[in-house]
Amino acid sequence: MKLSFDTADEQFRTEIAGWLANNLSGEFETIRFRGGPGDEHMFGEERKRWEQQMAQGGWTCVGWPEEYGGRGLSIEQQVIFHEEYARAGGPGRVGHIGEGLAGPTIIEFGTAEQKQKYLPGIRNGTELWCQGYSEPSAGSDLANVKTKAEYDQGRQAWCISGQKVWTSLAHESDWCFVIARTDPQSQRHHGLGFFLVNMHQPGVEVRPITQLTGTSEFNEVFFDQALAEDILGEPGEGWKIGMALLGFERGVSTLGQQMAFQNELDEIIALARRNGAAQEPDIRQRISEAHIGLRLMRYNAMRMLSGPADGSLDSAALVYKLHWASWHRSLGKLAMDVLGSEGELLMEPPYELSRLQSLFLFTRSDTIYGGTNQVQRNIIAERGLGMPKEPRG
Ligand SMILES: Cc1cc2nc3c(=O)[nH]c(=O)nc-3n(C[C@H](O)[C@H](O)[C@H](O)COP(=O)(O)OP(=O)(O)OC[C@H]3O[C@@H](n4cnc5c(N)ncnc54)[C@H](O)[C@@H]3O)c2cc1C
Repeated sequence: MKLSFDTADEQFRTEIAGWLANNLSGEFETIRFRGGPGDEHMFGEERKRWEQQMAQGGWTCVGWPEEYGGRGLSIEQQVIFHEEYARAGGPGRVGHIGEGLAGPTIIEFGTAEQKQKYLPGIRNGTELWCQGYSEPSAGSDLANVKTKAEYDQGRQAWCISGQKVWTSLAHESDWCFVIARTDPQSQRHHGLGFFLVNMHQPGVEVRPITQLTGTSEFNEVFFDQALAEDILGEPGEGWKIGMALLGFERGVSTLGQQMAFQNELDEIIALARRNGAAQEPDIRQRISEAHIGLRLMRYNAMRMLSGPADGSLDSAALVYKLHWASWHRSLGKLAMDVLGSEGELLMEPPYELSRLQSLFLFTRSDTIYGGTNQVQRNIIAERGLGMPKEPRG
């Protein structure tokens, strides 16, 4: 595992830090440190403009190969990029589903035409994406997807009908990647396709779902004979492609998330110092544990990312989601305990949740999305430890 950076890396650090200092100012000053967990509904328009500002500076998709508009940065430089982004207070990225999930999947499985059609919009920060996987009866059990894809001879295209749910940022998105059943006779992970669907068409209806925080980061999405502009791979390959995409979810961008976690922990420590909570032995202990947990998370991520690409670290990678999600949920609880009785009140007009209150409520979802804790434990047991598979109904 490589934990230090060489001179060229440190020069790169100066370059990105300088760019951020110059650009996260003026009209973008207000969005510094904004748009994170529990705050993701804030400054939507400003954060979309920020994506384009980053694109103009060549700072989107930094890990993509240069031929697709990326910078082809090494793992070390990507780590530095994310460290500096969080240190400078870079806002939550509205383009992360396109940049981190859709783009790499299109690069791996798309045709030359598809790459040309979809990658520039992601790279330029002008087209946003959402993920159409979960359905009312297909969450943990994703292979139970019921959404249908039928080939319409008249329109010479695949048409999608069905319902997706919990679709983050669907209300802001231009495109959705959708897993749908191409073979009506098929079951489980057979007979699925991976489709790219334009959200701006009559057959797509997006209904926001109000979350615990009172805001709506996710939605129900209804497809009624909606046209799929493209299918990635062949009909029947949807499961393979869909799972490959989930592999990208634990990529380098998760390091960026950790840097944002550090900012949250720092905010909680500063508050504990101010209001005296830091004098309480229990709080001191939990702050130390949070610090240690975050260091462990970082080392595990570095080990995963700098390890051999032969799959030998795959089982180590399995613990990653369980660890960060549980850690972050505990951080939310710590924030509430540091706030004390103030955490239970909406203090001043207009009586909105404070950042740390929102953080607490949002972190309840960390152990659900991207695979629940229970399901992650099953995966660790079965794939990591080789224990017998759980009985399936
Ligand atoms: C904030 C947020 C954002 C999301 N964004 C998206 C998105 O953009 N796109 C998308 O497609 N989805 C998204 N999701 C959905 C998410 O992927 C699902 O919520 C998740 O996969 C769990 O599925 P479910 O909600 O249907 O719960 P279920 O699968 O019904 O699970 C209910 C409970 O049963 C437990 N359980 C289920 N199966 C087992 C088992 N085999 N063994 C033990 N326990 C089990 C689960 O752990 C859970 O506690 C999002 C969810 C959240 C909370």
